Amino acid sequence: MKYPTPPTVIPLDAILPDEPLLMMGAGPVPIPPKVAMANSIIINHLGDTMNAVVEQVKIMGRYVFQTDSTHVMGVAGPASAAMEMAIANLVEPGTKVLSVCNGLFSKRLAEMATRVGGDVTRFEVAEKTSVDPVAVEAALKSGHFQVLTIVQGETSNTVWNRDLAEICRLGKKYGCLNVVDAVCTLSTMPMEMDEWGVDAIITGGQKGLSSIPGVSLIAFSVDAWARIEKRNAPMAHWCLDARLADQFWNKKAYHYTAPVSGILALHEALRLIGDETLPGRFRRHAHCSAALQRGVEAMGLELLIPEQARLNSVVGITVPDGVSADQIRHIMSQVHKVEISGAFGLNILRIGQMGEQSRAPNLFRTLHALGSAMRAAGGKVDMPGGMAELERMLASEVRG
Ligand SMILES: *Cc1c(COP(=O)(O)O)cnc(C)c1O
Repeated sequence: MKYPTPPTVIPLDAILPDEPLLMMGAGPVPIPPKVAMANSIIINHLGDTMNAVVEQVKIMGRYVFQTDSTHVMGVAGPASAAMEMAIANLVEPGTKVLSVCNGLFSKRLAEMATRVGGDVTRFEVAEKTSVDPVAVEAALKSGHFQVLTIVQGETSNTVWNRDLAEICRLGKKYGCLNVVDAVCTLSTMPMEMDEWGVDAIITGGQKGLSSIPGVSLIAFSVDAWARIEKRNAPMAHWCLDARLADQFWNKKAYHYTAPVSGILALHEALRLIGDETLPGRFRRHAHCSAALQRGVEAMGLELLIPEQARLNSVVGITVPDGVSADQIRHIMSQVHKVEISGAFGLNILRIGQMGEQSRAPNLFRTLHALGSAMRAAGGKVDMPGGMAELERMLASEVRG
């Protein structure tokens, strides 16, 4: 026996904080009790119960994506796996791809397209701006592209591509299939897959949907599916092969063992979105995010992105010179039990406004923790001013 005695470990209780942290970063986000409950159940991955769940997930998926697509599928894996599924099925060696790059996640799509042999042109967008449709059209005109990739919201630096619908229209006009990453934005702001001409739409569980990480959702349009059906190159990815996944999602047959608990959780997350309705959910997010943004500004802090390109789903805050974002996060987490995000390399903070994060009590607790930690870390903030503005903004509009 190589290891005669079992390893000594401490129980999970001793690793986890005594009090769960309030997850107010860029994901994963808090999940509603019904989602947590569903996630604790195991059922057979094939059979009548699972079939009924899958049918409803597809129906509700059509609602959140706003599509009639018959190819809505869950994916066992992070949102990145769903991104990879879209790319790997639609991009073959030599396929010409235009990747609109605003930051980390949009570049990940470009990287994935490159890895499967795509001929990728990166369209770099200036920092802190939405991509300009006029410039994209110029690129599309000259390139004979077959696939266009873009994010709705670039979580990494909190930029919003506000003209997404127009970009998709242009993509279609110039013969592209549009691959859209709506991971942080789905169900927090409008997304009309069919109306806008989106051909592959991707979301993860742990952000806008307020479900668990590791089970994602994807849909392909009629055009995308036609491209998949007549693909020449063999699919290098077995798990992510859309035609094999279709066996499970549309033909009740075995592909791989579906993450049953996660799909039950997703079912509940989608059902709660239906209860709230999409317009209601969009209003809640817009209202809460605006209140948070005004509160942060009234504290005397600056938001990272100018209003016209600012994402609502994740709010970026500039940390004043001489103050460390990491130290602020540390204090918020240790003292206030509130977790927010830093950024990959920048001295900024990011607060999520996705799903359950967009609730008044969570906003009060987070803004208070931010102000208090900022002070403790040597920053200057007007705490009463910020809290009062948050309160005023939250009370300012009757939510319908
Ligand atoms: C979080 C995120 C991803 C990646 O999600 P994972 O679940 O970590 O793979 C991709 N795109 C966007 C816009 C995101 O916010």
